[in-house]
Amino acid sequence: MLTMTRPASAYDVALENFDTAADALELNADTREMIRYPERVLTVSVPVRMDTGRIHRFEGFRVQHSSVRGPAKGGIRFHPQVTLDEVKALATWMTWKCAVVNIPFGGAKGGITCDPKSMSLAELEKMTRRYTSAILPLIGPEQDIPAPDVYTNPQTMAWIMDTYSMTKGYPIPGVVTGKPISLGGSLGRNEATGRGVFYTIQSACEFLRLPLAGARVVVQGFGNAGSVAAQMLHGAGARIIAVSDSTGGVFNPRGLDIPELIHLKTLTGRVAGFPQSESISPADLLGLECEILVPAALENTVRVDNASTLRARIVAEAANGPLTPEADRILQGREVFIIPDILCNAGGVTVSYFEWVQDEQHLFWEAQDVYDRLERVMKSAFRDVLKLHQERRVPMRIAANMLGIGRVAEAVQLRGIYP
Ligand code: NAD
Repeated sequence: MLTMTRPASAYDVALENFDTAADALELNADTREMIRYPERVLTVSVPVRMDTGRIHRFEGFRVQHSSVRGPAKGGIRFHPQVTLDEVKALATWMTWKCAVVNIPFGGAKGGITCDPKSMSLAELEKMTRRYTSAILPLIGPEQDIPAPDVYTNPQTMAWIMDTYSMTKGYPIPGVVTGKPISLGGSLGRNEATGRGVFYTIQSACEFLRLPLAGARVVVQGFGNAGSVAAQMLHGAGARIIAVSDSTGGVFNPRGLDIPELIHLKTLTGRVAGFPQSESISPADLLGLECEILVPAALENTVRVDNASTLRARIVAEAANGPLTPEADRILQGREVFIIPDILCNAGGVTVSYFEWVQDEQHLFWEAQDVYDRLERVMKSAFRDVLKLHQERRVPMRIAANMLGIGRVAEAVQLRGIYP
């Protein structure tokens, strides 16, 4: 008989991580049954009249994994590789992530399978508005609050807010976070993920007694999360020796001028061709000797075939799910200190929470208030995860999952279940 095996999907990985942490927590079968699976899964058709005059039908998704601890919360991704499985995985991670930083949200995620780089602004606006109207019954400030993710940005959020508000007849900024400041966005939201990544790296360096000043850093993915993390690390005296984006990589062993590189990326949309650097392939970039590697692109970029080439002391997971489980095991075996995604990149959703609070209160904070509160939340979450890591002698990833899943389990047990 012919048996077919398929590679593990991101959702398989999410379930495997859940089971490992649930076993370590000795969660009973009833609790697992209640919190393991998404609460709601929606697939929608998004027909758009393209600039050619023809209609193209895109497929979109919104998954609410949990609303046990509060409204579901999670970003929207526009990417050719978006699948329902991927969105389910990302929604699951959002649930545990919000619980790790102890903010009163559940987890959700959305996405459209599309190639935004090949679309005009008008096509993107039409697609976003049509998608919003398709998922409208699910979203709202008290129900489910989208935010930006890969290839979506404050402009995308402004269109979603406007489409949602049009159906109610008045402005409802709290339906999305990551909005432009002039529409009720929060100061500091745009750079929150990268800033949060930086705070967790600072904590890890303190724990490992590794000086951040002069540390060599490699950043894979130079978008929102990666470029801000690089900028903050550069500001703290670290040496960013290589960065990459989807079009190529640049390397300078003496350190790249990050503000200049951000300027180039803003102008041209790519890092390639940066003066005072040489180009480097994705494989060579991952194999560079460094103190800190920041994967900040997409899932599964570090796999069984390239994990053993890594020569980093710390891997700070700015991206969601950058390591496959096999790669994770290889790095654990070599005692690489991993700051797991649901802790490392939780700064984005933390400031999204601050934005939602400000929108609900119609009272806006100074940028420094946002930074100070974010630093407190991230460093306290790091301490909580590290404590479990040390006391229970489990890897940081399992410790983070135990913390998040444990909090959700406690909440669902206290709420009970509708008979
Ligand atoms: P973004 O669209 O701003 O940037 C993504 C970057 O990755 C781009 O520079 C792109 O060129 C690059 N890239 C894509 N494929 C690559 C590859 N194979 N090799 C190298 N670079 C590649 O997206 P973002 O918001 O920075 O998100 C990046 C990651 O961070 C995602 O996993 C996302 O889920 C995660 N994340 C983002 C936020 C946020 O607030 N933006 C919050 C939490 C987690």
